Amino acid sequence: MLNKTKIRTLFILLSIFEAVAIKTHKMYKFSILLFSFLLLSATKSYSQQPQKPNAVEIYNQIQKLNFLGSVLYIAAHPDDENTRLISYYANEKKYRTGYLSLTRGDGGQNLVGPELRELLGTIRTQELLEARKIDGGEQFFSRANDFGYSKNPDETLTIWDKQQVLSDVIWQIRKFQPDVIINRFDHRSPGTTHGHHTASAMLSFESFDLSNNPDIFPEQLQYVKPWQPKRMFFNTSWWFYGSKEKFDQADKTNLFSLQTGVYYQSLGKSNQEIAALSRSRHQSQGFGSTGARGEDTEFLELIKGQAPTDKSDIFEGIDTSWNRIKGGKPIAELLSAVQKDFDFNNPAASIPSLIKAYQMIQQLNEDHWKPIKIEELKKIIAGCAGLYLEAAAESQQATPGSKVNLKLEVTNRSAVPMELTAIEVNPENKLITMGISLKNNIPFNKDLDISLPQTLEYTAPYWLKNQGTVGMYVVENQLLRGVPDVQRELKVTFTIAINSVTIPFERNIIYKYNDGVKGEVYHPFDVVPDVSATIQNKVAIFNTNKSKSIGVKIKAGRNNSKGNISLELPANWKVTPTSIAFDLPQKESEQIVFFEVTPPAEASEVNAKAVITIDGKQFDKEQINITYDHIPRQQVLKPAEARLIKLDIKTGNEKIAYIMGVGDEVPKSLIQMGYSVTLLKPEEITKERLQEFDVVMTGIRAYNVLQPLALKQNILLNFVKEGKTMIVQYNTTDGLVTDQMAPFPLKLSKDRVTEENAIVKFLVPDATILNKPNKITAKDFEGWKQEQGLNYPNDWDKAFTAILSANDKGESPKNGALLVADYGKGHYIYTGLSFFRELPEGVSGAYRLMANMISIKN
Ligand SMILES: [Zn+2]
Repeated sequence: MLNKTKIRTLFILLSIFEAVAIKTHKMYKFSILLFSFLLLSATKSYSQQPQKPNAVEIYNQIQKLNFLGSVLYIAAHPDDENTRLISYYANEKKYRTGYLSLTRGDGGQNLVGPELRELLGTIRTQELLEARKIDGGEQFFSRANDFGYSKNPDETLTIWDKQQVLSDVIWQIRKFQPDVIINRFDHRSPGTTHGHHTASAMLSFESFDLSNNPDIFPEQLQYVKPWQPKRMFFNTSWWFYGSKEKFDQADKTNLFSLQTGVYYQSLGKSNQEIAALSRSRHQSQGFGSTGARGEDTEFLELIKGQAPTDKSDIFEGIDTSWNRIKGGKPIAELLSAVQKDFDFNNPAASIPSLIKAYQMIQQLNEDHWKPIKIEELKKIIAGCAGLYLEAAAESQQATPGSKVNLKLEVTNRSAVPMELTAIEVNPENKLITMGISLKNNIPFNKDLDISLPQTLEYTAPYWLKNQGTVGMYVVENQLLRGVPDVQRELKVTFTIAINSVTIPFERNIIYKYNDGVKGEVYHPFDVVPDVSATIQNKVAIFNTNKSKSIGVKIKAGRNNSKGNISLELPANWKVTPTSIAFDLPQKESEQIVFFEVTPPAEASEVNAKAVITIDGKQFDKEQINITYDHIPRQQVLKPAEARLIKLDIKTGNEKIAYIMGVGDEVPKSLIQMGYSVTLLKPEEITKERLQEFDVVMTGIRAYNVLQPLALKQNILLNFVKEGKTMIVQYNTTDGLVTDQMAPFPLKLSKDRVTEENAIVKFLVPDATILNKPNKITAKDFEGWKQEQGLNYPNDWDKAFTAILSANDKGESPKNGALLVADYGKGHYIYTGLSFFRELPEGVSGAYRLMANMISIKN
């Protein structure tokens, strides 16, 4: 039997790796203004490193500078994008190439760490930005939130605010002004793929006719002009035909075909190899990808606009030269000469002409392309001069109002004479004029003390600053909508005169240090609150009337943080003491304090809020830092809150062995319920070892990822036979390590109930599992999050009893959510219910049902 890795390898051998992603979306709920053309340097991990383009990269940038055409690719999620096509347009065709991912991918699973939902969306945002650094595209998003799997676009467009997302697509079209739009998905095929996918194509299709109409979203027109793209295509592939064979046989006379298997000799890579490097940035989705070489064809179907006569030229009839701008012709001539005369051994020789081009572009009338080309040109000039500009802070974080020492470096590594005329720090408005001559390869270093304004905003993803809805982020500022990255207010501008032309070069402040293993490590510089608080358990379960100790970690953002912390709760919950004094003399030091919390006698679910007071000023944020090598370090600020739940629940004192699959938080929740839980590795599963446990539970997708489990099935099933309980949580149909997961035949399917509020019918109302020790009622299925469950079995041996039935609107009942079988003297339970989501969210009904599953033998 093929395991997942083998399947993936097979796909890659066929050079169709993007299809895996599309398919994956369908199967389980996996589900995102730089002008970067870095192809080689971006393959390294530490992503805050300054750009240091080599001569080939600079030459490619110059070619791109002389090209004024653009293409926008539109889909729904991080990983939907066809990186081969993006790379082809950006690198082979030199088009300005954008990817609009309607969502940031909050709804998927995380294969690199514990972050889920908005934290996962934050990671995927950065993964996409890193991918674009490699394939040469630019990244955009909308306010739509990846709320989870959706079977059809109707549901998607009800949970998303359709008008808002449409407005964001039109905003992006008006801002980016694409000549051509390419949709990843087919707008005509609802129900065949993730509803987000089809919805992305439908909104794109609709936008084509609306974005040039000034009556549509007129409020945008104070910033942008109406815009009419020339053509729209659907990027079809065999996947949309069901199989490669069907696609091979299909009539393709109406399709445009592009030969994208280009080899970039100057880069030493094929287009597919670049695309694979880009795709491999999607680490949280486990989409590591191996590049191919040789021929490769992409197919496009025209769905809007006039058909070109040449079926390989989607830009036919579109002027992509400087002639499309009034006064652009002489610039084109100058840049063509720069290109022709470019000296790979001495890129600096191009600087005088590039400076002239800079002046000519500055003199153009206001135009869409003007600021784009100015930014491109500044990068090229800096690249040609080996101009190194850096503002490094002494620490990674600082608070508003504090003083920060910056180490500035300006190094001109060319023979072209330059003068550093000014350094400006904003928003402090600190301007230092100077007249420093920058001689070839002689660094200019300066220490600069700056005071961060009291009003400086904390660093955090702007799209998470307001409380959103299930389907939408709330972003009030029109200008921020669609902006991919975290906004950093602090900037240092180095103004440099080259041939008497002054050019401002803007840089973010960074923090860097030397790591003994990794070498030079760069991080973004973050603005943090004076103090932050983290309630240690995001959900605390009280299953008796006894009090519990709740730990709160306090972290100082600056030296001498001294104040009081309290835990705010509704009056029926008791907290002692009411406030605790703390004293943190050292910046970034931490202290944990404990509050004793007593729940009310009755069931109750409340939010606990940590509030810190320093000198009368209140702080109530939790600071979360996400650090991985493949993305820049991220800071997220959330309300310092936790959910406290007094459950009306009875639990036994079973001892549980938990076998972790791809990773979930279920064991933590079980411990909260009062169970003794031991994490067992597959190799630790022996008959003797299992004797100390009453229940064995497998984590999500354990039978997909733990190859050794196949060899332990006998021991596990004997454990059940001898009178114990085994609970298996969901697995996916592909790449199961054994086809004998259960003691009786059981066939997994892709059945799922995505509507978390779908009515649940009890098929066997008097089953023990629904009655003991807790009486389960319809109320226990209220308040579930994101979905009820996934990958339910659709065929099982008669030894199993199906307990529950539910379905999404318009579908047939799905009865495989919870299956129970007696086996020997024990019990085997298979469940696709999404306990891994519900328990960490504190959904009380999920806890009550879980307690009954664990206690089934009593
Ligand atoms: Zn997708």
